[in-house]
Amino acid sequence: MAYDKLIFERSSEGRVGYSLPESPVADYDIDASLTREADPELPEVSEFDVIRHYTNLSFKNHGIETGFYPLGSCTMKYNPKINQELSSNEAFTAVHPLQPAESVQGLLKIYYETQRMLSEVSGMDTYSLNPYAGAHGELVGLLIIKAYHESKGDHKRTKIIVPDSAHGTNPASAKVAGFDVVEVASNCEGDTCDGTVNIESLKDVLDDEVAGIMLTNPNTLGMFEKDILKVAELVHEAGGLLYYDGANLNPIMGVARPGDMGFDITHINLHKTFSTPHGGGGPGSGPVGVTKELKPFLPAPIVRKAGDFYLVDEASELSIGRISQFFGNMNVVVKAYAYMLSTGRDYLPEIAKLSTLNANYVRESLKDTYELPVDEICKHEFVFDGLKNPPEGVRAIDVAKRLLDFGMHPPTVYFPLLYKESMMVEPVENESKQTLDEFIKTMRTIAKEAEEDSDTLKNAPYTTPVRRLDEAQAARKPRVKFKDLL
Ligand SMILES: *Cc1c(COP(=O)(O)O)cnc(C)c1O
Repeated sequence: MAYDKLIFERSSEGRVGYSLPESPVADYDIDASLTREADPELPEVSEFDVIRHYTNLSFKNHGIETGFYPLGSCTMKYNPKINQELSSNEAFTAVHPLQPAESVQGLLKIYYETQRMLSEVSGMDTYSLNPYAGAHGELVGLLIIKAYHESKGDHKRTKIIVPDSAHGTNPASAKVAGFDVVEVASNCEGDTCDGTVNIESLKDVLDDEVAGIMLTNPNTLGMFEKDILKVAELVHEAGGLLYYDGANLNPIMGVARPGDMGFDITHINLHKTFSTPHGGGGPGSGPVGVTKELKPFLPAPIVRKAGDFYLVDEASELSIGRISQFFGNMNVVVKAYAYMLSTGRDYLPEIAKLSTLNANYVRESLKDTYELPVDEICKHEFVFDGLKNPPEGVRAIDVAKRLLDFGMHPPTVYFPLLYKESMMVEPVENESKQTLDEFIKTMRTIAKEAEEDSDTLKNAPYTTPVRRLDEAQAARKPRVKFKDLL
């Protein structure tokens, strides 16, 4: 494998990359049991070497700031730098979470107004900004559902309904919250299913043991749940609650609201829709909003306004309790606040519409080459089922890996599980027509390669720091030491 010189190979004995002032603190006797026996093995390099080392490492990664990133379900949108800068301001980073409310009125105002704005965007009564991510929000929402039924002395509701197209976190969260998961089938024509809830199947699974249903709308196939009002009516009639997985809020924000569709609880992934960079596992934020009736069950703290004063409410008696340290990921909340204010009420729907337009443009442009099971207008994303005419042995993963050689991140592959060769494409609103055209052209080039020289695909990628990895092992047992890779 070709490699840049390791930082250890650049090391030269006695070279230093820093000059620190004399320490004003006197030497201190540390118990020998707590000290090292030998100096750590560290490279001895100049500051310049260190900068190059880390800069070069950063170039080995693909990010939204290096290239197109149509990773479905993830909303890899542009995160304006101004939001990052604002949230890094000392006014936020130097605050202590136990400071008295009168000394942090500005920050509490941001919390309060973010709670209000998210409520308005989603049609909920109140939000708790505490959960750390979408999946965490799901768990919180499910615990609220449980607490709600139990508060009414209804202890037999042990089931949560989840559609067959659901994101894996939905059934997982339901399990963690102690529910049994019941799958509801989606609408199909022949073998092709579009992920929207089949009303007859829903009726079949609804009974007095159902605590609620978890849905995302638009769903993971980018399809808007057209029967949502009917779904809400049926679930409510059966005594259940509706949970909205807000990971797909981007294409409907400012246009349609889960609260108006009949949802009782929502989470919103601030790190998807509201401009926090993500992809490396955090930090995120998954605020949970509820209807007025469910407000007492929310986890504390929640910021309230009394006159001109912002104060922090602790948990009510019915609350599910605390679910995070202090106020959740404050920094992410500040970014979402800045994003909403700078975007403005009037422009939020434009974002939704542009993300929808971009997805449909790509979908229409490639459906002659890639298999499109659901050939309908989509929202922000859609799913191909691999190549239209795949040569023997060529799979979605081969197309995905080959895209890397063209400097583009692949779509999400093999999810949702409805199709064998799922490729979930979400171009997001920020990409120009030129970038989308380049993607379309590249996808066509790859399809042609598949026909003419499928080995090129099967051995891709060629230009990345590491070649094709064992995907499962790379995630479970990452080999991150250089020596492991040789
Ligand atoms: C991303 C996603 C989740 C999980 O959200 P995290 O913030 O990653 O925990 C849940 N549902 C859907 C549809 C998603 O796309």
